[in-house]
Amino acid sequence: MSQSSIGRRSFLKLAALGAGATAAFGNNETLRDATPEEIKNPFPNSVTKKTICSICSAGCGILAEVDEKSNTWLRQDMAVDHPISQGSHCCKGIDQIDLTKSKMRLKYPLKKVNGKWERISWETAVNEIGDKMMQIRKEDGPDSVEFLGSAKFSNEQSYYFRKFAAFWGSNNIDHVARI
Ligand code: SF4
Repeated sequence: MSQSSIGRRSFLKLAALGAGATAAFGNNETLRDATPEEIKNPFPNSVTKKTICSICSAGCGILAEVDEKSNTWLRQDMAVDHPISQGSHCCKGIDQIDLTKSKMRLKYPLKKVNGKWERISWETAVNEIGDKMMQIRKEDGPDSVEFLGSAKFSNEQSYYFRKFAAFWGSNNIDHVARI
């Protein structure tokens, strides 16, 4: 694993592990303690890019530290000079980096079968959800559901979503961030 592909916390843990292993196996050329400089700045060749959180349209400022060589996003910080967020994030934005790095990121549809998650195809997912919605609509009418738009929607996506609710036959539609 290259140093640039791991997070700072993992790096520090590895540094500590390296120190333990050195003590256990004796000094060799492959293991050594991290220097104070390396602990302070594990990614000396990284550059900081100014960007924005893409989770909602508030567009809070993010400082993204990236390794341009490996095209890796290493860590993030708040942009204190951003005119809108002024150095703050909500709990979603603070982990924006996990949208690209998290092992928990959902990359395909899953269905719970007998208590266990199973991977299904997009076609199966869309068909099953569509069939279920039609069943609900038939049994309980179009107003038995509510459509909640996403803060990530663009204007055009919002337009289509509103149209979808109208064709469905309900005015039960709102924005997920209604306050
Ligand atoms: S999700 Fe949170 S951090 Fe991201 S832009 Fe919206 S308010 Fe800002």
